[in-house]
Amino acid sequence: FMLRLSGSNANLKADLFGFDPNTHTVIKDMESWHCEGIFDASLAELIELCSVIFHKMRLSETYRTEDEVTVNFVKSICGQYRVTNPYHNFLHATSVMHMAYKMVKSASIYPLSQFEILAMLIAAMCHDVDHTGKDNDFEIQCQTELAITYNDLSVLENHHVATCFRISRQSERHNIFANLETKQYKQARKIIIDCIISTDMKNHFSMVSNIEKSGDLEKDNRETTAMNLILHACDIGSLLSPTPMAEKWTERVLTEFSEQAKACYENGISVPAHMADLTSRSKQCKLQVDFIDYIVH
Ligand code: AMP
Ligand code: ZN
Repeated sequence: FMLRLSGSNANLKADLFGFDPNTHTVIKDMESWHCEGIFDASLAELIELCSVIFHKMRLSETYRTEDEVTVNFVKSICGQYRVTNPYHNFLHATSVMHMAYKMVKSASIYPLSQFEILAMLIAAMCHDVDHTGKDNDFEIQCQTELAITYNDLSVLENHHVATCFRISRQSERHNIFANLETKQYKQARKIIIDCIISTDMKNHFSMVSNIEKSGDLEKDNRETTAMNLILHACDIGSLLSPTPMAEKWTERVLTEFSEQAKACYENGISVPAHMADLTSRSKQCKLQVDFIDYIVH
């Protein structure tokens, strides 16, 4: 489909997923900010959307990655997102990646190199891979295997990064970094680690206050700060969608929170205040208003 979209060698891989780009809504919508068709897309269509974003952003030229390797990598990452999670699943990952794609294409964004943009987009797609559907506090309080592995520090985010690189190294057919020089690989790896670790909500207020204090990006590490901010903004940006879409995201987040609340009871640990009593409509609305006022705004 990549070759088909680029208009060359039309027959070679036309049937990789069997979609016609003219009738494939999510690809047709991909240049709109909200990509409205995304909620109706199958996993195969989401895989195609992520792969097409990499194709359009020239991963094959910049990282010298074969298209087939890109698709294998995207498929494996998708496979490691848990379909049982109402919110932290591959739809959320694709939506965050798509929003980051739209942001870097917008003229007013801080200029980043193609190499940096691609590393950030990889981070976006992988930023919640193999999410457990619980938050870091739950992992730490229950002293799960992940909390022990990562010593209670950004437990889930460390796991997402490690899963991303583990998948890239599982075989040559998955290694999107295989043709980078050592120095370039280290650079891409550093960006992906920084970006994903920065999605830990515990960094939110320091990130916001740093940018508010200086009024601009600090000179020393402008690119890193810009990439971290873009990914974090996209990660918490679902409520900026048109209302019918925003409501769907909210419903998914609240369902996942309610499931964690139940798991807290079962494990004898306290339920975080924002996850308690979410069957109450007024509590749901208050949570959304607070999230917008204190975090998103
Ligand atoms: P992440 O876990 O990487 O997706 O980080 C984003 C976090 O923002 C989520 O884990 C939620 O805790 C929070 N979040 C996102 N959307 C909402 C929402 N609509 N209401 C409340 N919290 C939200
Ligand atoms: Zn996320």
